[in-house]
Amino acid sequence: MLEAPAIIGIAVIIVFLILLWGRTGVGSEEDVFYDPSDGERQPHKWGYTDTRFEFDGPRSVRVTGSRYPLAGYSMPYFIPFAEEVLGVPITPEGIMPEVEREALPPRRQNDPFEQGIGAVLGTDQVATTDDERLVHSHGQLSVDEIYRLLYLGSLARVVDLVVYPQSEDDVRHLVRLANEHDVCLVPYGGGTNVSGALACPADEERTIVSVDMRRMNQIVELDEQNLQATIEAGINGKELERELEARGYTTGHDPDSVELSTLGGWIATNASGMKK
Ligand SMILES: Cc1cc2nc3c(=O)[nH]c(=O)nc-3n(C[C@H](O)[C@H](O)[C@H](O)COP(=O)(O)OP(=O)(O)OC[C@H]3O[C@@H](n4cnc5c(N)ncnc54)[C@H](O)[C@@H]3O)c2cc1C
Repeated sequence: MLEAPAIIGIAVIIVFLILLWGRTGVGSEEDVFYDPSDGERQPHKWGYTDTRFEFDGPRSVRVTGSRYPLAGYSMPYFIPFAEEVLGVPITPEGIMPEVEREALPPRRQNDPFEQGIGAVLGTDQVATTDDERLVHSHGQLSVDEIYRLLYLGSLARVVDLVVYPQSEDDVRHLVRLANEHDVCLVPYGGGTNVSGALACPADEERTIVSVDMRRMNQIVELDEQNLQATIEAGINGKELERELEARGYTTGHDPDSVELSTLGGWIATNASGMKK
């Protein structure tokens, strides 16, 4: 977790670009590894609601939807393979139902901070609902976060407030106010980290504010001469590649989470990857 004075914004970032050589073929069908259209996200688990494993026979599974090339094919060898590797039986009856969520811990309010942000951010840039607080309080760390939430029903500590900055000025105001009022700011990108990077320490007494960067998703400048770009940190990989591809470029950065992870998250976690 970053404390108030730390630089949370990385509002504008320089990345190196690769010119897509031979531009013909950009976006052609054989290049498309998955359907990059937007979709409804799973609130807590990885991915989109249209895509999940389901049994299509007692010992066989398939992936639903049509987003990925794998979707729709019956996979009779997958369960035996997973059982062999994991050493546990996998059956439709063995699927654990999700438990009912426990009530969240009450919000720790910091009134002067909240009044301060109210003077700068619009009401649609601030959220305090339980759903918003919970979604912003974890990444995708399987056991400590997702298992605990879905099958044990709670997380020890969750954020108290979620804010959605839309400009560098918004970020500056937030950092200044957090510093003044001793509030913790936690930048939120796509929430896809698998390292507990968004987990709130259970004993944190101060107000914790999740700063969701995803409304800051614009390419500010593309310098074609030097193959560099200035891009807001909240853009996700899918949006970024879509925008760059339209202009004949790519970042060449392709983590398996590219659909949902963000530029700021990549830099903060030192991400790497070759999805294709
Ligand atoms: C299915 C799956 C596949 C994955 N594949 C890969 C892979 O191929 N390669 C790889 O490296 N990782 C992979 N990951 C892990 C994860 O996607 C990366 O760590 C990714 O970089 C996290 O980005 P995010 O935007 O989701 O960040 P978050 O999870 O939202 O945040 C991660 C950390 O970065 C900080 N942060 C986020 N945005 C900012 C910002 N703007 N300014 C300052 N700090 C910020 C957060 O506070 C937090 O500490 C995968 C994860 C999943 C679930």
